[in-house]
Amino acid sequence: MTQQMSGQGAAQGATPGGAQAAQAFKRSCGTCTLCCKVYGIADTQSPIGQWCKHCEPGRGCSIWETRPAFCRQFYCNWIMLDWLGEEWRPDISKIVFTIEPSSGFLMFQVDPGTPDAWKREPYYSQIKRWATEGLSQAKCVLVFVDKAATLVLPDGDAQLGELGPQDRINIGPGGDGTIKVEVKRGPKPS
Ligand code: SF4
Ligand code: SF4
Repeated sequence: MTQQMSGQGAAQGATPGGAQAAQAFKRSCGTCTLCCKVYGIADTQSPIGQWCKHCEPGRGCSIWETRPAFCRQFYCNWIMLDWLGEEWRPDISKIVFTIEPSSGFLMFQVDPGTPDAWKREPYYSQIKRWATEGLSQAKCVLVFVDKAATLVLPDGDAQLGELGPQDRINIGPGGDGTIKVEVKRGPKPS
């Protein structure tokens, strides 16, 4: 018998909540298991974009009691942020929304089975609004489909390709009243 999961690990920077934080959340995962698909989990050899072998989609984790620490610590924003509407529930939106802890960047990891889900409404307009607000605070908005990243900007979307762990996005004043966004590529993992 499986138990419903309450989260798992994120390849692109999750927002760990921890057990105590979990008790404070009003929401639970219910039938959602999308984070068990969209992220790659080293501990379970789960490739990015494929269901973890321990996941029973729509039901939960079959190794709940012994699931990796990474899984125990992950909570998506829909769980943590009450003000996000029901439409942002990941199994409805097909998008797992997190905030990267060190940068504050907004991260949207899309179900690769519906790679254009983030371009549908009401999601696209809301993501654009967050991109506009975020830039004024030097925070980027990144959408991932598997490892392919799109940087969402108020006036366009920039395809960045695959972002490696050593790649960095710098954001700051452009000198003429504009904001400059620069992607610095690090060495590729061997
Ligand atoms: S994506 Fe969020 S709501 Fe869905 S299973 Fe993971 S933590 Fe729960
Ligand atoms: S081990 Fe369990 S919680 Fe972790 S990704 Fe797999 S199914 Fe999800």
